[in-house]
Amino acid sequence: MSGRKYIYSFEEGDAGDKMLLGGKGANLCAMTQIGLDVPPGFVITTAACLAYLEANRLPDGLMADIRVQIAELERKTGKGFGDAVNPLLVSVRSGSAMSMPGMMDTILNLGLNEATLSGLIAKTGNPRFAQDAWRRFVQLFGKITMGIPDEAFDAAMAAVKEKYGAVQDVDLTAVALAELADAFVEIYRLHTGQPFPADPFDQLERSIEAVFRSWNGKRAVDYRRQFKITREMANGTAVNVVTMVFGNMGNDSATGVGFTRNPGTGENVIYGEYLTNAQGEDVVAGIRTPKPIAAMAQEMPDLHRQLIVLRDKLETHYREVQDFEFTIEQGRLYCLQTRNGKMNARAMVMTSVEMADSGLISRERALTRINPMLLEQLLVPMLDPAHKAAPLAQGLPASPGAASGKIVFDADTAEQRGKSGEKVILVREETKPEDIHGFFAAQAILTSRGGKTSHAAVVARGMGKPCVSGCEAIRIDVRERRAEVGGTTLREGDVVTIDGTSGNVYAGEIPTVEAKVFAELATLLAWADEAARLQVLANADTPRDAARARQYGAMGIGLCRTERMFNDSARLPIVQEMILADTNEARRAALDRLLPIQRADFKGIFEAMAGLPVTVRLLDPPMHEFLPTASQLEFEISQLRHLQRTTRTVAELPETLKLLDPELPRDYVESLGKLQQSLARYRESHSDDTLLARREALLRKVHLLSEVNPMLGHRGVRLGISYPEVYEMQIRAILEAAAECVQEGIDAHPEIMVPQVATAEELKRVKAMVDAVQADVEAHADVKLHFKFGSMVEVVRACLRAARLAEVAEFFSFGTNDLSQATFSFSREDAENKFLPLYIETGVLRDNPFEALDVKGVGRLMKLAVDWGRAARPDLVIGICGEHGGHPESIRFCHWAKLDYVSCSAPRVPIARLAAAQAKIRESECDESIFA
Ligand code: PEP
Ligand code: MG
Repeated sequence: MSGRKYIYSFEEGDAGDKMLLGGKGANLCAMTQIGLDVPPGFVITTAACLAYLEANRLPDGLMADIRVQIAELERKTGKGFGDAVNPLLVSVRSGSAMSMPGMMDTILNLGLNEATLSGLIAKTGNPRFAQDAWRRFVQLFGKITMGIPDEAFDAAMAAVKEKYGAVQDVDLTAVALAELADAFVEIYRLHTGQPFPADPFDQLERSIEAVFRSWNGKRAVDYRRQFKITREMANGTAVNVVTMVFGNMGNDSATGVGFTRNPGTGENVIYGEYLTNAQGEDVVAGIRTPKPIAAMAQEMPDLHRQLIVLRDKLETHYREVQDFEFTIEQGRLYCLQTRNGKMNARAMVMTSVEMADSGLISRERALTRINPMLLEQLLVPMLDPAHKAAPLAQGLPASPGAASGKIVFDADTAEQRGKSGEKVILVREETKPEDIHGFFAAQAILTSRGGKTSHAAVVARGMGKPCVSGCEAIRIDVRERRAEVGGTTLREGDVVTIDGTSGNVYAGEIPTVEAKVFAELATLLAWADEAARLQVLANADTPRDAARARQYGAMGIGLCRTERMFNDSARLPIVQEMILADTNEARRAALDRLLPIQRADFKGIFEAMAGLPVTVRLLDPPMHEFLPTASQLEFEISQLRHLQRTTRTVAELPETLKLLDPELPRDYVESLGKLQQSLARYRESHSDDTLLARREALLRKVHLLSEVNPMLGHRGVRLGISYPEVYEMQIRAILEAAAECVQEGIDAHPEIMVPQVATAEELKRVKAMVDAVQADVEAHADVKLHFKFGSMVEVVRACLRAARLAEVAEFFSFGTNDLSQATFSFSREDAENKFLPLYIETGVLRDNPFEALDVKGVGRLMKLAVDWGRAARPDLVIGICGEHGGHPESIRFCHWAKLDYVSCSAPRVPIARLAAAQAKIRESECDESIFA
């Protein structure tokens, strides 16, 4: 006996201890202990594996203990290990605490040798099957325990097939397979210099050691690194030794796989397939077509009834949909394996609601068993699952959903073609705020650069449009209006399909299927709202986005970015006029034209969100973002100058030519005259001197506004203080819209939010503007306005001065996009394009801090700001409106840090609602140690 208990029979293992028994072992114990017919067996623990790996040999006494267990299997099955008449065969299966499919090794039919083979032939009456099992065992054993490469066996297989004229493996007869098995045994001898071990215990010992070793095999190590499986999650593999049962022992035998409910639809009926007189591999290999389980009700009614009993037992025990494997050996049903069924999003929602309604699980369980990100699939159009097209390229899945359309390479063309009813896909290297009209017109966006939080990704997500970003395989040539991918050239107007859920890009059109909010989803989300403490608001910039957010269950708007309205192509010229104004009067004139437009926008949003808060953020980006780039202007100016020179030269040309040749033919002079006239007309309409002068003035302004670090420059509240008339116009537009709502009986709840605040003094200055405009609007409209005034907290200093800010602000909203950028001193765009992927790949950082909130750093700052802010103003309302507001793990932190709400793009609202409920349900799992 070994000193420590390293082996547990399925009857005695603690089914709750996956770390010790591995997932598969724990499950086999659980199934045995709830009275399911599981083939007898035992588990050798992960502790034994670690001891083996440490000492490079099995623990003392382990094999003696194994002999005791095997004797017990012999007693239970009435078979003998190595018995030539009635042989006991076993499988040796790996299984760690975390499922690592296919990463470690499994050996089947162990116990076969020349003698037991004849027993198996006699028992099954099926020499072909027995020979096949034998040759497979020899190969698997040779490969796994001795590292013999598959090629050696493949060559022997090819030779036998050729000899017997067999096209496929299944065409080989028992005789041919017997010959092949002999050849395999010989290969084993040649490669190892030893005969194939006949003693089943010898086979078993070597197999156990090999499975233990496979824990440190390259495949398994790579897998754990890729899926971030740490030692705390799984340490070592267990080995399960399980009696083999055979589904190919006649017509009262079968094998199959089942789901306790339909994993495609969630429907509450047993689902799966089986084959009579077959072994598991036949189902997988597709050699014979399996029958649906429903057919078993006619073919084997008694076994079908047993299967239903099995299904019920599994569900009542696991309280979860199960995916199980079964074998029927001569009329006896065995359950070989079960695990939680993997289902699509729809089936997860359907089963959650149905299982909770029937009392099988609690509502809490119904809410926590679904990964919130899964809901994303339900709310966007998806590619028709039946499509077979191969992608042209793959980028990052930046905004989910699928769409097809004609490629266009700039926002203006997108707008033109979009307005004329064409479906277009905007393809750019990367996008900028001035491309916004192209986003409105496009079905989807594809960029060759930028990460999942690039401008394109964030804006597309906000609008609920599919986006693939960072698709580096695509080389875009805007001037030539074409893109190259691998060997394919795509020209403007060619149709492509973008799948923002997978990141794939396809040539041509692939049909899509539409998404709908169905009744069960609505029910589940209503349960989530009841369970959650956090409110879920949406980031939405237009009345249309606001209405959509409300459909998804948004409880208000947490961020309306007003600059998105400025970028609309009808407004941009007025905004540019305002920026270019040299005098206060000229600026005011432009602002006076913008005022009614903004007022109408705000009113539309207040209407769409009646009864709910709408947080409007005053202008944030630096002014130059509303102007063309310097290089674009320089190009245009040089073209205009060139045109000017050309027209002048053409105007002088007839006179010059006449000087050289007074006899110049008349028709020549006439045609030159025509050219002159049309050039003059063109110049008048396109290239008069004022146009050139305007472009030059614009360029001077662009140079003037240019900054070395615009994101840290003249933007946000800094802009509002240097150009107070801009903020005053916006504040007026908000409050006048609110006043109109009061007059019309619309229940508006505006909140005015100031971006980029670093000092309380900044906030006070803007508050003074608000007070003045409020007094004026109230006096003019003769109404009393109710609204809130608050601050974005997205600058590190704002966190540290939260107490002072809270004296002025009634609410805080964490802008974690900027706050993460500032805390790390990483520029978001540069980081995602340059070093972040490497940082994540090599483990310097665990996650992209622009996707998953960095709790230890940024979160810590937030918590300070929450505590200090609330100390100064106990009823301070606090939320988050950065991208992290739609990220489930980050939402969990926000709940723990006692925020009042999260705000995210509309399509993420359902995800955030579910995540908020889960955060509340699991709140006791979080404490200060998250900062450790
Ligand atoms: C933020 O910084 O988190 C934020 C919401 O503002 P923006 O992304 O517009 O800079
Ligand atoms: Mg910001």
